[in-house]
Amino acid sequence: MQPVPVPHVDAESFQDFLGTVRRFVDEVLIPRERELEETGVIPAAVAASMRELGLCGLSIHPDYGGLGLSLSQELALHEVLSEAAQGFRYVYGSNVGIGSRGLALDGTEAQKARYLPRLASGELVASFCLTEPEAGSDAASLITRAERGPGPDGDDGYRLTGTKRFITNADVAGLFTVMARSGGAPGARGISAFLVPRETPGVRVGKPERKLGHRGGNVCDVTFDGAWVPADALLGGVEGKGFATAMRTLDSGRLSVAANCLGQMRRAIDEAARYALQRRQFGQAVADFQLVQALLADSETDWAAARSLVYDAGRAYDTGAEVQRLAACAKYFASEALGRVADRCLQVLGGAGYIADYPLERIFRDARVARIYEGTSQIMQLVIARQLLKSYE
Ligand SMILES: Cc1cc2nc3c(=O)[nH]c(=O)nc-3n(C[C@H](O)[C@H](O)[C@H](O)COP(=O)(O)OP(=O)(O)OC[C@H]3O[C@@H](n4cnc5c(N)ncnc54)[C@H](O)[C@@H]3O)c2cc1C
Repeated sequence: MQPVPVPHVDAESFQDFLGTVRRFVDEVLIPRERELEETGVIPAAVAASMRELGLCGLSIHPDYGGLGLSLSQELALHEVLSEAAQGFRYVYGSNVGIGSRGLALDGTEAQKARYLPRLASGELVASFCLTEPEAGSDAASLITRAERGPGPDGDDGYRLTGTKRFITNADVAGLFTVMARSGGAPGARGISAFLVPRETPGVRVGKPERKLGHRGGNVCDVTFDGAWVPADALLGGVEGKGFATAMRTLDSGRLSVAANCLGQMRRAIDEAARYALQRRQFGQAVADFQLVQALLADSETDWAAARSLVYDAGRAYDTGAEVQRLAACAKYFASEALGRVADRCLQVLGGAGYIADYPLERIFRDARVARIYEGTSQIMQLVIARQLLKSYE
């Protein structure tokens, strides 16, 4: 299928666009999953089609060449796209999510004009650099430094020193949003965000990590070894706001992860139900056994409950409401539900579920990280409890 380029999508044509993406998933992505798993590389033509569809600019405002979708619309697309292997998401995931959101939310006009159009087209890939070897869940304890000082030509700027860990798409990124400690203030208040082009001298990207799933997408260390950037690389032009930007970026990022979980659950249930209807044991389809039906029913219930939570939170975000607690609830529930669903659906396939010729094996591996990145389940529990208790104070 030749995808139809959609340069701009308004609210009315969104359903058409969703249908186009649905066909693209069924006719282009799913048939090439095996190739993705075997080669570990997203086929260049598939990546080009995804960029042409406008997927890299879903959330970016049309003034900067994006589609300007609401978060609810974006979540619906993430849900559909995540029915295919998770590796494909690396073409657009960081550009529409954590890679560009901070820039779109808090960047200066000049910063947005400089980077957002190239992020929307997919010409430039963005990575988000928060995690460090000694600062994961406790991100506010990060130690990467940004020291103010002149560059090689005497211009005012910042020199960045430190290492970032597990950075999605670092191997292909042209732009890193880097959280670094710029002032003397302790904890979150001392953190600023910097827009660092890859070609900056002193920026080094490590080799891709070997990992459990998400074949086709990479995470790497990124080291800043006295990398100097001019003063206008400070996101929003204000020091000390970087941690707040990162946390706001994570609200929508966590909802995107939750929507990805919905798509993965849907695919797992579809594969399991189809298999159960055709596989016969004891003279009947295994789908006729009520114990197998229970595995499917519990999975469908998990999916339906997670779906309500994700879209409730998405609609709240679109009204401008504070959604930190709701986004954490959605991410926590959907990612844990995905773990249960992937496990049950694999069980429905019996031995075939464990064999790589069937998609459940990959779905099971791809699913695991949803409970870890953009805040672990334990951190989601802490966020939810903290917000809940605050409302009683
Ligand atoms: C595939 C992948 C992609 C990623 N992409 C990015 C990226 O693009 N940019 C980026 O900045 N980071 C990225 N990360 C990093 C990710 O966000 C972190 O791995 C995650 O936040 C957890 O941090 P950690 O790995 O250091 O675990 P740790 O913080 O060391 O946690 C270890 C364990 O302790 C638990 N724990 C920690 N603190 C508490 C607490 N207070 N109470 C209870 N339990 C606690 C955790 O839940 C976990 O079970 C990525 C990670 C992966 C695996």
